[in-house]
Amino acid sequence: MAFKTIIEPFRIHSVEPLRMTSPGARRRAVREAGFNLFALHSTDVLIDLLTDSGTGAMSAAQWAGIQRGDESYAGSPSWFRFLDSVRDLFPFKHIIPTHQGRAAEKILFSAIGGPGKVVPNNTHFDTTRANVESTGAEAVDLLCAEGLDPAALHPFKGNMDTTGLEELLSSRNADTVPAVFVTITNNSGGGQPVSLANLHEVRDICTRHGVPLFLDACRFAENAWFIRMRERGQHSRTVREIVLEMASLADGMTMSAKKDGLANIGGWLAMNDDQLAVRCRNLLILTEGFPTYGGLAGRDLEAIAQGLREVVHHDYLQYRIRSTAYLGDALTKIGIPIVQPTGGHAVYIDARALLRHIPALHYPGQSLAVALYEAGGIRGCEIGTVMFGRHPDGTETPAAMDLVRLAIPRRTYTQSHIDYVIEVCDDVASHASELTGYRIVDEPPALRHFSARFEQLATA
Ligand SMILES: *Cc1c(COP(=O)(O)O)cnc(C)c1O
Repeated sequence: MAFKTIIEPFRIHSVEPLRMTSPGARRRAVREAGFNLFALHSTDVLIDLLTDSGTGAMSAAQWAGIQRGDESYAGSPSWFRFLDSVRDLFPFKHIIPTHQGRAAEKILFSAIGGPGKVVPNNTHFDTTRANVESTGAEAVDLLCAEGLDPAALHPFKGNMDTTGLEELLSSRNADTVPAVFVTITNNSGGGQPVSLANLHEVRDICTRHGVPLFLDACRFAENAWFIRMRERGQHSRTVREIVLEMASLADGMTMSAKKDGLANIGGWLAMNDDQLAVRCRNLLILTEGFPTYGGLAGRDLEAIAQGLREVVHHDYLQYRIRSTAYLGDALTKIGIPIVQPTGGHAVYIDARALLRHIPALHYPGQSLAVALYEAGGIRGCEIGTVMFGRHPDGTETPAAMDLVRLAIPRRTYTQSHIDYVIEVCDDVASHASELTGYRIVDEPPALRHFSARFEQLATA
């Protein structure tokens, strides 16, 4: 008998208490935070779905690795275990450890960016865009048409628009495009995967134009699982084999180990180009540290080395992708519009569709995120006009979509936690027409969503 319930493939070994709060206390806390959920004390949050980044639970074997961490400044055995583990999946010539993904981005774009340069990506993640733009280069998103339609059902909505890429590369001098990026899975576009076929096409275009291809590989294992489940001819392969094929198509990668590294901190930058690696290592020493530890302690390198072995395990990935879909399916069933199909690490509620009465420049995503917190202590994250609406020239326009992301930390919450989330979402959606818009009263020049302060409008 094959049972249909997909259980958590682990049992609980140590626990962290959750603090229950009242709706009144939450309303006070969120007002004090300027209606910015990033400004809350996390002890005032019941179910924290702000991000899946660095928030997962580590395994007993990872904690054992933490104990084994060797803190030698140079050439530590922990470094070599990290290196072996990374190369087992991503056999690039140069592996450069960093304290997290954006440090890898900062170093790479400092080396290859600059005014007049253009970096195409299926969709730049916010820190990726900010690091490209801070060098004076332009970040261009080239997502396939299905990826821009939240309701469209397509197995690989993270695919790059290869016609757009071909046009961009044909219209420009190749040395103004220092790299093409593909983000797997596409975080800002709904956690949607990229197919192997699309990666092959992008590879061919890059080869024809002599431009290197880099992966933003934060969720490589989830992407590979989707390929295994959805792409023709892939089902009998292992995830590791698929990951190795993805890696073989690229010239380098940036990585945040806080996602599919199953660690709480860490990342790396990798490449085959010797000269570029020398420049990146020189920058690494300025800001991160010596090349055998980057910005990490030896124990962090151990946690990542073990996490990479666990993340490609099929039982883990089946549970991971299925438990995210469990939330997505339930919200769909009660009529809440979400980005379809459910992505790997998160469910994205289409706040613009749910709150049609709130115009994009009054931030429907922010309104919904605050309402979910006030009603049930759930912290999600606006991915929309607050995050992407302000441009370097100071203008503001609606983002392509206004979403609220409910990101699922890895191996952290159980099915009953998620059942509670479903109940709270149902309650908030049934009062959707009463929610109002917001305006920003204070914002920094870049990445404003982290620290902006808001005021609630009296009406939509
Ligand atoms: C998280 C993330 C990054 C940045 O990594 P950090 O570890 O948060 O600095 C870059 N790209 C994508 C797609 C991400 O999800």
